[in-house]
Amino acid sequence: MIRQAKGKTPRRPPLKKPSNNQKDPVGVYCRVRPLGTEDEECCIEVISKTTIQLHAPDGLKANRNGEFKETQYSFKKVFGIKTTQRELYEDVAKPLVEDLIHCKNGLLFTYGVTGSGKTHTMTGSPGQGGLLPRSLDMIFNSISPYQAKRYVFKPDDKNGMEVQNQVDALLDRQKRDSQTNVPKTPTTRRIDPEFADMISPEEAFRADGVDEDSSYSVFVSYIEIYNNYIYDLLEETPFDPIKPKWNGVGTPLRNNTEFIPPQSKLLREDQNHNMYVAGCTEVEVKSTEEAFEVFWRGQKKRRIANTQLNRESSRSHSVFIIKLAQAPLDADGDNVLQDKNQVNVSQLCLVDLAGSERTSRTRAEGSRLREAGNINQSLMTLRTCIEVLRENQMCGTNKMVPYRDSKVTHLFKNYFDGEGKVRMVVCVNPKADDYEETLLVMRFAEMTQEVEVARPVDRPICGFAAGRRQRNQVFKEELTRRLEERGGPVNGESTTLSQLLLSFPSLPPCEIGGPNDDITLPRLIEALEKRHKIRQMMVDEYNKTANMLKSMLQEQDGNLVAKENFISEQHGRLGEKDKMIQNQKNEIDRLEKKSKMLEYKIDILQKTSNIHEEDKRTLQHELESREQRLQRELSDKRRMESRMQGIVCDTKLKWEKECERRVNAKQLEMQNKLWVKDEKLKQLKAIVTEGKSENRQPQRPSREKDKVPPKRSASPTPVPSSYNSSQSSLSSLEPIYNFSRMVRPDPSSPRPGSVSVASCISEWEQRVPQCPRQGSQSPPDSRKRVQGLPNSLGRRRGRCWAREHEVPAQPADFEADHMTVPPVRPLHRRSHSAGGERWVDHKPTTNVDLDTLMQPNLPNAIKVTAASEKALSKCDKYVLTHQEVASDGEIQTKLIKGEVFKTRGGGQSVQFTDIETLKQESPVSASRKRRSSESGPSHEGERMDGDWTDVETRCSVAVEMRAGSNLGPGYQHHGYPKRKKP
Ligand code: ADP
Ligand code: MG
Repeated sequence: MIRQAKGKTPRRPPLKKPSNNQKDPVGVYCRVRPLGTEDEECCIEVISKTTIQLHAPDGLKANRNGEFKETQYSFKKVFGIKTTQRELYEDVAKPLVEDLIHCKNGLLFTYGVTGSGKTHTMTGSPGQGGLLPRSLDMIFNSISPYQAKRYVFKPDDKNGMEVQNQVDALLDRQKRDSQTNVPKTPTTRRIDPEFADMISPEEAFRADGVDEDSSYSVFVSYIEIYNNYIYDLLEETPFDPIKPKWNGVGTPLRNNTEFIPPQSKLLREDQNHNMYVAGCTEVEVKSTEEAFEVFWRGQKKRRIANTQLNRESSRSHSVFIIKLAQAPLDADGDNVLQDKNQVNVSQLCLVDLAGSERTSRTRAEGSRLREAGNINQSLMTLRTCIEVLRENQMCGTNKMVPYRDSKVTHLFKNYFDGEGKVRMVVCVNPKADDYEETLLVMRFAEMTQEVEVARPVDRPICGFAAGRRQRNQVFKEELTRRLEERGGPVNGESTTLSQLLLSFPSLPPCEIGGPNDDITLPRLIEALEKRHKIRQMMVDEYNKTANMLKSMLQEQDGNLVAKENFISEQHGRLGEKDKMIQNQKNEIDRLEKKSKMLEYKIDILQKTSNIHEEDKRTLQHELESREQRLQRELSDKRRMESRMQGIVCDTKLKWEKECERRVNAKQLEMQNKLWVKDEKLKQLKAIVTEGKSENRQPQRPSREKDKVPPKRSASPTPVPSSYNSSQSSLSSLEPIYNFSRMVRPDPSSPRPGSVSVASCISEWEQRVPQCPRQGSQSPPDSRKRVQGLPNSLGRRRGRCWAREHEVPAQPADFEADHMTVPPVRPLHRRSHSAGGERWVDHKPTTNVDLDTLMQPNLPNAIKVTAASEKALSKCDKYVLTHQEVASDGEIQTKLIKGEVFKTRGGGQSVQFTDIETLKQESPVSASRKRRSSESGPSHEGERMDGDWTDVETRCSVAVEMRAGSNLGPGYQHHGYPKRKKP
């Protein structure tokens, strides 16, 4: 008979409203498996008991977002590669099993990439049993003495549990035994070698505080969620050859006799709003071995289904549900209390999730791709749910959590709503291939930790005090003992009872004397009535005392309840304080993590700034050196500029002088012409007047008559090529140019020697080579003379220059008689004084002082910067220090020496006798120079002319040239392009 109150209010509150608002974060643990081979690249490092660090593998070092190459993740605990299954169990699953025994639910996931050790962690292998076999073992170790007989607990099909009495249970057992030939005691069965030593006995755990006044039963279910369909792995599929069951996923097999694909199950909500798999097989198991065997059966079925339907097991989630039913025993301790409302069912779900890799990695195609996508979908939904939960909790929002989007999340939604403890083991494989996937797993796992789940409430199994069965037993024993003490061993009655009987008034003799004996019976009646009265009194007394005791007990009970309430209140407060402490601890943890991160960032920034500083220093250094170079170049430029300015100044001065001279010459010429014309006119006049008086003859120099001055240009003529003739002709043909005091005809003054002026000009013209362009042929003798022009570079001798004073300085020197003086005159060399020669040392101001130059040692010399007659008149030797830039860019100094002669007119003239060239040479320029000196004569000539030009230019102050002279500066400038200077 099933004693079940149908439609009765469920014992558990209809909605999960934990009486306390305490919450615990989802416990996330991380397990790092060892590498497959030791030489593989490892990208995970366990840096503390709670933290791991991920290193990007070598191939991935170029991080896109400039994120740190190392990332750290913290968990409740990290288990390194050496962690044993036992250690992991003790930390992760044992508390959940303890909870289970104490009527609390638990959910444990393994999450990670395929091959990361999820199954190893959850199931394990022989000798290395995982969390699942260990949990089963601990449960049975703890409850086996208190297990109910099979079928005493009987699951209804609505996620509830019913209780049967012993007799009904026995009947059910017999029925099952007759149907199947499963042996009654699993311990006697042969154990499958595949899972033979999943747990070694010495590693067994036991829960404390098991309520021995309760009876327990364990039920297991095993489901698989594949492609968002739920399959019952423990379903005993009846053989049905006619109508194969298939829900449309995959292709049904042709041969149904071998394999019937499982039918998918639906999720339902029970009256307590808990989700459950409708119609799912729940197998009652009585030992670890039996339970594990059932699991193994499901595992095999799963394997077969996967092979037959060509599915990958890594893409399905497997859920093993352990349900523990417990109900209080009745007062005798023989039967389970036949009250459904006193039955408590807690469950522990062990979930081996599908591999968390992305679709791309599975390389699935076609329908497989769809499957892979769905697997992702369910994991994605899990992630989304966690995210929304977290957001709701952190921001106080009330977003709907999309549990219903996938079966996995839908099935476990109650857990996240506070129906039990949730834990997750994140499995990671440190190999480099998994790095990117592992990163995602880590992020999800870290986020999961931030979700808080309401702490399950401590619920007593029933309204009875714990341990009452034992206490009852003790009480019974004590009572018996006392009674025995009272009554003693007399008549076998208890001592107490006999003593009590003795306290009654003794009965009178009850032997009746005869038929007329009227005394005995009434006396007996009286005595009995007396006894009855006493008894009644005693009963009343007893009842009174009992009532008193009862009220006392009730009072005590009330006190106790109050105390209990107080205690629970205090507990609540304590819990709140605990919670606060926990929150603060979490906050501290979070801040610590943050500060660690910031420290790391600071470190990196420090390094970066150091690098930048270094860069800055080098750049500054470079800038300084460049500035210095610039400065140097600027000063070089300035020096060059000033030199160029000097040169320009010189040239300008020279040209100004030259122009002035030419203008003067032209003026002179024109005046001369005018004079000639005047003269002619005069003569004509004379002839005309002579016609009147015949004895008058015109007076005119013969030369003047014959020679008409050729047309001449004011500009000098170019040097004919014959000028480049050999040096040998120099000495023999030394021309002596005499520069007498410059003649400046004064048109206003009368000119008695006018003829001599004209002859003077004509004589000059004879000496000057005519410009070929002007078409006039120079007379042979004049040409001969110019052949003697110097063209050697080194030393030139025998050239004579006549010096002349500058007229404007001394206008008083002008004398008319000079005009008649022939241009060439014997020179009077100044006699050397007894003290030796006296030098005029002429150094133009533009000269650069060069320390390296050999300085001429001239004692007693008069140093001048411009030639002056005064100085010349005091000396007999003249030296001009002339500087110029040679073709190779070096400064070349020339010492042009000459002797000073007195002119007949009282002026000074210098006959140049020697040119000394002093030059600094670098080896490079020397070779260049050699080359150039070996080149053709025209080249040589050009250079020589340049030299000549400059020497002449320098002497322009000291040397007066006649207008039209081809030795004037104009002649070089005209005929040859000026050499470029660097
Ligand atoms: P998953 O279920 O995540 O796909 P498995 O649990 O099947 O991965 O593990 C893959 C392989 O790695 C198995 O051969 C397993 O024995 C081994 N393995 C996983 N984790 C560990 C570990 N912690 N120690 C030793 N071997 C492990
Ligand atoms: Mg696996």
